[in-house]
Amino acid sequence: MEKKFDAVVIGAGLGGMSAATFLARTGKKVLLLERHHVPGGYASSFRRGRFEFDASLHVLSGIGVPGKRGRLFEYLDFLGVASRVEFIPLNELYRVIDDRIDVTIPPDWEEAIATLAGRFPREADGIRDFFALMKELARDLSGVFMAAKKRAADLTPESFPAFSRWGMKTYGEARDHFFRDEDLKSAVSPFWSYLGLPPSKVPFHMMASCWDALLKQHPVHIRGRNQALSSAFLEAFAESGGEIRLGCGARRIVLKDGAVRAVITDEEEEVETKVVVSNASIPSTMSDLVGIGQVPEAYSRQVNSRQIGFSTVNVYAGLDCPPDAVGATTHENFIHFGNRIEEAWQTAFTLEPPKGMLFTSYTASDPEFSPPGTAAIVMTAASYARPWYLVPPERYVDEKNTFAAAMFDQAEQYFPGLRDHLEVVEVATPLTNMRYTGNPGGTIYGFDQYLSDSGLFRLGNRSPVDGLYFASAWTLPGGGYQTCMTSGFLAGSMALKNLQ
Ligand SMILES: Cc1cc2nc3c(=O)[nH]c(=O)nc-3n(C[C@H](O)[C@H](O)[C@H](O)COP(=O)(O)OP(=O)(O)OC[C@H]3O[C@@H](n4cnc5c(N)ncnc54)[C@H](O)[C@@H]3O)c2cc1C
Repeated sequence: MEKKFDAVVIGAGLGGMSAATFLARTGKKVLLLERHHVPGGYASSFRRGRFEFDASLHVLSGIGVPGKRGRLFEYLDFLGVASRVEFIPLNELYRVIDDRIDVTIPPDWEEAIATLAGRFPREADGIRDFFALMKELARDLSGVFMAAKKRAADLTPESFPAFSRWGMKTYGEARDHFFRDEDLKSAVSPFWSYLGLPPSKVPFHMMASCWDALLKQHPVHIRGRNQALSSAFLEAFAESGGEIRLGCGARRIVLKDGAVRAVITDEEEEVETKVVVSNASIPSTMSDLVGIGQVPEAYSRQVNSRQIGFSTVNVYAGLDCPPDAVGATTHENFIHFGNRIEEAWQTAFTLEPPKGMLFTSYTASDPEFSPPGTAAIVMTAASYARPWYLVPPERYVDEKNTFAAAMFDQAEQYFPGLRDHLEVVEVATPLTNMRYTGNPGGTIYGFDQYLSDSGLFRLGNRSPVDGLYFASAWTLPGGGYQTCMTSGFLAGSMALKNLQ
């Protein structure tokens, strides 16, 4: 293997693959190190019996449809990735079900508003105002970022009126300002689980951006599962001259005079480089790869004061019947038990049965997702790692099966007959996520995205070490597919400037 590279990227998750491909595409000599044998981090798939499951992706934003393409599609096109992937438009944004409501939201701004206004006519004006505000806020947020980067003097309340009034509010505060009906509040709140905090805590501007990203362009899934996206990244990376080592992680980042000089691999090779983009978590990059003693104290304090975000329990199930046999005809379903979202989040700190979950019916949107006459579904519940750490190893399998059984009990209320059709089942906990991706706590969104750790306050893509950058859910813009690929672009652009 070559011993000298312009840049070394640590980790082939979405942030890492995006940064590596960006740098290779712009002519740099790049080495991508991935500890796992399969690329993608969370963006990967696995087989059980005759089923192949997506480890993560439910819904992808930023792609759009032909004639109405999104920013992410354009970026993937530039990288040479888009042409290698087939995107499947989803027919619905989501279906939300609780004890009192069952509402399906179409994947379009105007139709989403019309559906909600039709279902909650007394609140129709509020619904229109709320959605108009979210559009404005999402637009302001992009402007605020640009202004903060270019000319802080442009950051005036007059330039960004929606952000100035609502930018520091939670989604719960904004939602409750516009709506009185508790069922309507439940119907517009499912994306809390896409961001990792309940309405009382999640920033309004992040929820607005999430709505905007999913409604401005059509939400999609990927033909061939999320592994197809990761494989496309690696093909495009290799085509641009990039070198990848799977099953070989980075053990240490070597510094000289406070700047990156080399990376030591798991195989004890020393690779000379002046630039490292780390897709590994920020805490483990700083403590394990750089070394605590080398990290400025102020930065360590910033890292340590943040909370590690939530993880998931996932139940992957292959059914011996088509999706409609159990009523699973909508791709993305949010089940809120008794409309207790805040409690659902509190329960994520325990091993009690979850008070809400996502139920994703992949074969409903892509009949080729599972063998003919079958269905692949995944149930996902929010869960923090802490209670799982406390389970003694000999009780772990029982504990996760008990948790999964409770999820089946709950899902059966809305998808009757589910259990009678089970062919294969696999259960993953936060510990599984941690094992496969190396993320502390098995978190899927990096640090919890509180107001104090989102938007302009999130740890940036540039580290305090000269030549070291971050591209992952832990940094800007935050957790999720589109955002992590964007973080790769942001870190890659900074690294490129450094190299030039
Ligand atoms: C069940 C589930 C459902 C989800 N659904 C969605 C969804 O529908 N839409 C959406 O937008 N997002 C979704 N997400 C979130 C999304 O998957 C993540 O936010 C995103 O994939 C994280 O990407 P990342 O770049 O941070 O890298 P990660 O996926 O965290 O990967 C990091 C990579 O770095 C490697 N690594 C770590 N340390 C080293 C080292 N020292 N040397 C070499 N390699 C190393 C790891 O092996 C891993 O491959 C979901 C996640 C889960 C788990």
